[in-house]
Amino acid sequence: MKIKLSLSALYGLLSINLLAATEELTILYTNDLHSHLEPHLESWISESRPVGGFANLATMVKQEKAKKENTIYLDAGDYFSGPYVSSLTKGEAVIESMNHLGLDAACIGNHEFDYGWENMITQMDKAKFPILNANIFIQETGEPVWNNPYIIIKKGELNIGVIGLHGKFAFYDTINFRMIKGVEARDENIYLEKHLAVLKDQVDMIVVVIHHGMPGRQSSIGKTDVMRRLNSDVELAKRFPEINVIVSGHAHTGTPDAVKVNDTLIVSTNAYTTELGKLEISFDKQSKKVISHNNQLLTIFDDEVEDDKRMSEVVEYWQKEVESIASEKISYTASNLTRAYGRESNMGNLFADAMEDYDDAIDFAVVNSGALRQDIKKGNVSFGDLISAFPFPNTLVSTKLTGSQIKEIFNHAAGLSNGILQVSKSFKYSFSPESHVINMWFNGKKIEENQLYNVASSSFVTDGGDGYLVFKEGLETKDTGINIYEVVKGYLANKKTFTAQIEGRIIEEI
Ligand code: FE
Repeated sequence: MKIKLSLSALYGLLSINLLAATEELTILYTNDLHSHLEPHLESWISESRPVGGFANLATMVKQEKAKKENTIYLDAGDYFSGPYVSSLTKGEAVIESMNHLGLDAACIGNHEFDYGWENMITQMDKAKFPILNANIFIQETGEPVWNNPYIIIKKGELNIGVIGLHGKFAFYDTINFRMIKGVEARDENIYLEKHLAVLKDQVDMIVVVIHHGMPGRQSSIGKTDVMRRLNSDVELAKRFPEINVIVSGHAHTGTPDAVKVNDTLIVSTNAYTTELGKLEISFDKQSKKVISHNNQLLTIFDDEVEDDKRMSEVVEYWQKEVESIASEKISYTASNLTRAYGRESNMGNLFADAMEDYDDAIDFAVVNSGALRQDIKKGNVSFGDLISAFPFPNTLVSTKLTGSQIKEIFNHAAGLSNGILQVSKSFKYSFSPESHVINMWFNGKKIEENQLYNVASSSFVTDGGDGYLVFKEGLETKDTGINIYEVVKGYLANKKTFTAQIEGRIIEEI
């Protein structure tokens, strides 16, 4: 009997010890908030129920943190550029609002550079939460553009090392080159390795918040697509098995199930404040491994969540600040204006037509689909609507390109890695999706390989953004210095009402 008791006591002690090594942690996460301070409709979620917004998000973060002590909230970048409040305040409204979100850390995304890197630093200085980046540097001095590569968060018995990075490829692939003159992104692997070595003996768990991967649109459509968009995360996890969790941004691709690569979990949301990600993990301190997990993407329905009062006040304050500019009525649209990433859209047609119309010397215009960020509802169109639709400070540029250069450009568009090109009324093309362009016509005539055409686009594209590097080979490049949303404003100004339609300018051939 005596021996029996001792054995069971011993067993009890052992199991307590085993339990003691296991810690619970909840990681709340978002990415690509894109200045969606207010709830909005996302047609892929619901045609009638608004989602997202900072006041709802703040409430949910508070509720989750109140439920479990060991909870942290991380964001994986791209909080700037979306609805006009960001463009008109150069991101200030977003940072000031994020100060009330309950963030424990965030990394820097490419869109934080949309108003220049100096502005990025000015705005980040206003943050009351840690912002992390380990691999972007000022060329002249070699100093980090933002000197805070990682932090250590202590939660209960856990020391969590959080490292912030920006994928080098994603940085140069999707950034406005004019805005990063003087800074450079360096290979994220090198800096990750460096900081992992520093953190190794100081922390139990490693979390990487990184902005990289393939830019996309919200599309949690099955595992293959999610894996494809998050492929660079998968590669990172394979290369650095000591990472426990990767919170990823840029792909706008949610992970309803965490992507598991060996012992590393990869998570991300569908962007625009539509969801709060919630990853619950049991962590073994001895082996430094996640032993079990549960991941959810909590859709933020406006009609289900109470507004956080403080956040509502902050959002209202910033909306008022920009209202006088944003509320100017420009025209009336007789139809909803919608965007599309992989096919022709009537909003794309409107923007491209406005650009073609700007100067008679322009033959046709192209708009990268990723530049169009928000639909406009049938009815009055305000200046704010136009800025929200195209929130970037890009100017209208024209350049002369040969037919064969134009073919290269449309082959890249057809590949769909950065979305297709929307085109103005004088141009038409057919393509094989994810492959190549088939035919191209200018004013009904096939494009001639050796002929020069005067093509207009945004400075982002003509500087080689979204992979359109061929634009840089253009001749007689002219920058109007006029913002794209100003161009569209001018185009609509003398149209009391207008209708933009899909006209078969872009033909998909499979
Ligand atoms: Fe991004």
